[in-house]
Amino acid sequence: KKDDIGHCLPSSCVTLCILWMMKVVGIIGAGAAGLCAARHVSASSCMTPIVWEKASRVGGTWVYTSQVGKDENGLPIHSSMYKNLKTNLPKELMAFPDFPFPAKEESFVHHTDVLSYLEEYTSHYNLHQYIKFRHHVEKVKPVDRDDGTHGWAVTVQDLETNSTTTSLCDSILVCNGHYSVPVIPPIKDVDKFQGQQMHSHDYREAEPFRGLRVAVLGASASGLDISLEVASVAKEVLLSHNHPVQIPSELPPNVRQVRGIVAAYEDGFVFGDGSHADADVLLYCTGYKFTFPFLSEECGVTVENNIVKPLYKHLIHTAFPTMAFVGIPFQIVPFPLFDVQVRFFLSSLKQDITLPNKTAMDQDTQAAFAEHISKGKALRHFHKFGKQQWGYAKDLSSLGGILSLPQVRFFLAVLTGDVTALTPQKMDADTSHALQHLRRSGGHERHYH
Ligand code: FAD
Repeated sequence: KKDDIGHCLPSSCVTLCILWMMKVVGIIGAGAAGLCAARHVSASSCMTPIVWEKASRVGGTWVYTSQVGKDENGLPIHSSMYKNLKTNLPKELMAFPDFPFPAKEESFVHHTDVLSYLEEYTSHYNLHQYIKFRHHVEKVKPVDRDDGTHGWAVTVQDLETNSTTTSLCDSILVCNGHYSVPVIPPIKDVDKFQGQQMHSHDYREAEPFRGLRVAVLGASASGLDISLEVASVAKEVLLSHNHPVQIPSELPPNVRQVRGIVAAYEDGFVFGDGSHADADVLLYCTGYKFTFPFLSEECGVTVENNIVKPLYKHLIHTAFPTMAFVGIPFQIVPFPLFDVQVRFFLSSLKQDITLPNKTAMDQDTQAAFAEHISKGKALRHFHKFGKQQWGYAKDLSSLGGILSLPQVRFFLAVLTGDVTALTPQKMDADTSHALQHLRRSGGHERHYH
């Protein structure tokens, strides 16, 4: 707008200018990763987020439902949460670095507390305004622009009206989660087994297994936790796994550890050591797949051997560096890692840092991969971090010129009295609780740190 003598009217001129310069960042999913992305994008003066979430509320995994199978829109149920789940990480560690959980006696909180926490995070950072609920992303496609750069066409179905629209974005953060689509390993003659088969994705509570003999296949976090729950009502739990040693935690007497299942027969299973046992139920706790059904072929993203390619630092698409995938690493402390990943990616978008070229990014990934293999680790565990997560976060922080100080922040919060529930007795109790939890989940005390 101009005034009578042709000068720009300053406020509208500035507003237009800012709007013109604002980059639109599309975010797929409003779970913890998508919310973290929206929080940091919205804090930037040169970017604005738009978040599409197919559910009607924030929280993703932490939105418990007793439903299994398909939802009212015919979409697969997203959350694998079960009724009595308590976190396997203390809330003090689990929190985003800039937003502690509310003070509460317990450290290992119920899943409903995590959902409330994510809802409070959303309100605190005023994120609702950016989220389009009940909007299902169907297709993401790169588009070439006149200036030689590329943007993204995102096609979204409004589940209320059934209408479909396509929006253009400057960059994309993929935050769709990866604990929804079950992995079911092949088992010889499994179709001959007459009992019930289900995956932990559909497990909600122990009661339906009262008095039954349940074979639980897989003894990672879910397998172990679900075995303990089911054992409280079942006749017997056969905890089937191929860990090199028996899990040394104190298991209830009706939990028997057996080798991995190699074949099935009508009434039960044969295990790796040739022994066999009858069972009424086979409960697969065999993990989940990475899936991105909305990415068009032109995006060039593949998943092979559980490895998402082509990503730099397990995060940024090397051919389209305006696309990033938050939360691909697993066996991590998720929320703080999401935070550092998002801030690193945004540093590159804001051009606070310059990413290496595609060749150098691919070489970096190949070097990381070669190192992974040289340590004798399985291909499919390339994104499995464990203690490697701390070095990774440090690496991203120093490369991105960003802070990664969750521990310092936590300590400061204690010093300034923001974490009021932490009396010395409470801290000691928490530590012994954490140790007990470690023992119960089969860990050694010497690995406590
Ligand atoms: P999600 O929470 O899965 O969110 C993804 C979101 O994307 C969902 O809201 C989904 O509806 C949406 N979405 C997907 N596809 C589309 C689409 N096409 N269009 C629109 N929206 C879409 N972590 C911990 O820190 N502590 C724990 O104790 C812990 N326990 C766990 C227990 C279980 C049983 C499981 C399954 C996970 C647990 N985790 C735990 C890990 C947990 O998944 C992460 O903490 C975190 O919540 C993952 O967040 P996310 O945003 O990556 O994915």
